[in-house]
Amino acid sequence: MNFELSDEQQMIVDTVRTFVENELYPHEDEVERTGVVPKELGQEISQKCQDIGFYASNISTEFGGGGLNTFDFTLLERELGGAAYALTVYFGRPSAILEACDDEQREKYLLPAVRGEKFDALAMTEPDAGSDVRGMKCAAVQDGDDWVVNGTKHFISHADIADFVIVFVATGEEETPRGVRKKISCFLVDRGTPGFEIRPGYNAVSNRGYHNCILQFDNCRLHKRQMLGEVHKGFELANQWLFATRLTVAAFSVGRARRVLEYTLPYTVQRKQFGQSIGKFQGVSFKLADMVTEIDAADWLTLSAAWRYDKNMAVNREIASAKLFATEMLGRVTDQALQIFGGMGLMSDLPLERWWRDARVERIWEGTSEIQRHIISRELLRPLES
Ligand SMILES: Cc1cc2nc3c(=O)[nH]c(=O)nc-3n(C[C@H](O)[C@H](O)[C@H](O)COP(=O)(O)OP(=O)(O)OC[C@H]3O[C@@H](n4cnc5c(N)ncnc54)[C@H](O)[C@@H]3O)c2cc1C
Repeated sequence: MNFELSDEQQMIVDTVRTFVENELYPHEDEVERTGVVPKELGQEISQKCQDIGFYASNISTEFGGGGLNTFDFTLLERELGGAAYALTVYFGRPSAILEACDDEQREKYLLPAVRGEKFDALAMTEPDAGSDVRGMKCAAVQDGDDWVVNGTKHFISHADIADFVIVFVATGEEETPRGVRKKISCFLVDRGTPGFEIRPGYNAVSNRGYHNCILQFDNCRLHKRQMLGEVHKGFELANQWLFATRLTVAAFSVGRARRVLEYTLPYTVQRKQFGQSIGKFQGVSFKLADMVTEIDAADWLTLSAAWRYDKNMAVNREIASAKLFATEMLGRVTDQALQIFGGMGLMSDLPLERWWRDARVERIWEGTSEIQRHIISRELLRPLES
């Protein structure tokens, strides 16, 4: 493994960091205060991202994207991680699963998404099916050339600004040695399709301005051409294309933790108590030492999992470890930073309490910490089981 970044990789890091600092950070306080990203600002961010040539950088060059491999995309996500989700969502990264589009779907969804003309969201989770995705109740029944969908999805991020949603629904059941299992298929559903409603979701403590939505399907008719991939193969499709999104959460967490530490360090020098900088107290300086060590550890876990992924090496356990450790590390780092700021850390005048709140969701979405531990332990024990 070569630990040195190439010139091109360093360019990615520098360009995205400069973009984040100049184009995103200045808007964070306003978004936090209002809970909204004005439409014009979102469009402006997307346009500037296109101008620097980074829009859809995760999508293959064959479809007009930037064609970054997983390692380089992880570097990019790490830099984006410093900034608020509500703003980074406009730094276009269409869902990679759209590469599974057929010719007609490609013209209608993938290519406009790569050009920044259409925005996607992705819906798996339901009120009664979170970690247990296969337990989903939202179902589609075939009727001639149509599928008729009924059910509810919730917690769907940025569906409020989506032109279409990639939706996973149950399309049947099958007997397996471990009992009856739902067959899942994936559909591309346009906003405005009759019988399909996107409603505001819940107010979350994390990531103000980055809204989650409820999707309601009432006898919603979708032509079979709206199906992404093969019938009943939605789960396999998700595993193939969405598997690595956990790495982006890990990278994002590392980027955010780095920003928190950078913000905290000068305070430990400037803030004086008992006649000296608080950073001179071992109780504070050891916190800094733990923070930077944990950040580096999370960073290496994440980058090495990305590197393995690009080399087609076994990576299931490694990605789960990176997601688990990086997101839990972020929780500890933001908490320690807030402690270092004392009472001021809790005040909304400073970004500490925001980062502390924002960090909380990372341990929940894209598979909870418990689900990551489940994956890790399963991979460890599998070779020992007959
Ligand atoms: C702000 C936000 C945005 C989101 N955006 C999206 C989105 O865009 N699209 C989407 O599809 N989903 C989205 N999600 C859903 C997210 O992926 C789920 O919240 C997550 O998978 C957990 O599901 P759940 O919340 O229903 O919790 P549950 O699955 O009900 O879990 C509850 C608790 O039980 C534990 N648990 C469950 N099963 C096990 C097990 N086998 N072993 C040990 N412990 C277990 C969990 O770890 C957790 O602690 C979002 C969630 C949030 C909060």
